[in-house]
Amino acid sequence: MPIATCPRCKRVFDKGSIPVCPKCESDEQSDYERIREVLERLPHLNAEEIALEADIDRDTVLRMLEQGLIQNVSINQQIKCGRCGAPAISISKRLCQACLEKMNAEAALAQSKVKLPPKKSAQVGETMMNVRKTIQSKRKAP
Ligand SMILES: [Zn+2]
Ligand SMILES: [Zn+2]
Repeated sequence: MPIATCPRCKRVFDKGSIPVCPKCESDEQSDYERIREVLERLPHLNAEEIALEADIDRDTVLRMLEQGLIQNVSINQQIKCGRCGAPAISISKRLCQACLEKMNAEAALAQSKVKLPPKKSAQVGETMMNVRKTIQSKRKAP
């Protein structure tokens, strides 16, 4: 019988067809199912993100990948920018550095369009006040 060290509890056990000792078999199975479930929902995560999302050790995720129990295309392949195809730096947004900066600049521009310049808005405010005063004085007048 081949002897192996259980990757979960580090105990030596008789290695059969399973990669972990009999004590850890059910834990291994539930971790595997959790990882599978995360991968089905979020297929673009890397090993580290899968580990976080599934609340499982990163080593366990990597071991299962090595064993071919789970597969994820994006782990071996870098995440690309959804706008220009350059390597993405923001995995959640799928954007590269340049596009991220462009997006931020666009967002800032969009915000600045909404706001009126302070000088003009003050003038508009005053005009409105004057209009109101005029209306009020007209209403007061018999
Ligand atoms: Zn074990
Ligand atoms: Zn880009």
